[in-house]
Amino acid sequence: MTEELPQPFWRTKSLSDMTASEWEQLCDGCGRCCLLKLEDEDTGEIYLTRLACRLLDLGSCRCRNYPCRHELVDDCLSIDPATVDKLSWLPATCGYRRIADGRGLAWWHPLVSGDPNTVHQAGISVRGWARPETEAKVAELERYIVEDFDDE
Ligand code: SF4
Ligand code: SF4
Repeated sequence: MTEELPQPFWRTKSLSDMTASEWEQLCDGCGRCCLLKLEDEDTGEIYLTRLACRLLDLGSCRCRNYPCRHELVDDCLSIDPATVDKLSWLPATCGYRRIADGRGLAWWHPLVSGDPNTVHQAGISVRGWARPETEAKVAELERYIVEDFDDE
């Protein structure tokens, strides 16, 4: 007789049932949500840029002051179970969006691979191509617009 192994929390729990620690672990560390977006005032359309928030560490792709991010960056938005579906710019690769959509986590997610580097090795994170927002002049922001991610 074989005993069934317990399933990991992200396979059994909904987003709203997760503990604070489980919620934080769902973030794969890609840094994609920390890229600046431009909104067309006439159409409301949102364009993604390769410019990263000034607090994003472009090597680790993690926030350099996560506990104080809302005090330091006015437009840093919280992601929670109620907002996941409303944030249209949240990439399809995002761990929160994947669980909300019932797609599970991909092989490169650190929770699945057991290795925080796989999100970089798979080319999911912004490492290597994001630029610091401080390098762009306001009048030139449109030059940094990139295609939306289509790898999921
Ligand atoms: S897009 Fe999602 S998984 Fe990636 S850093 Fe942002 S919250 Fe985490
Ligand atoms: S403050 Fe931190 S979490 Fe918020 S957008 Fe900037 S880098 Fe990302």
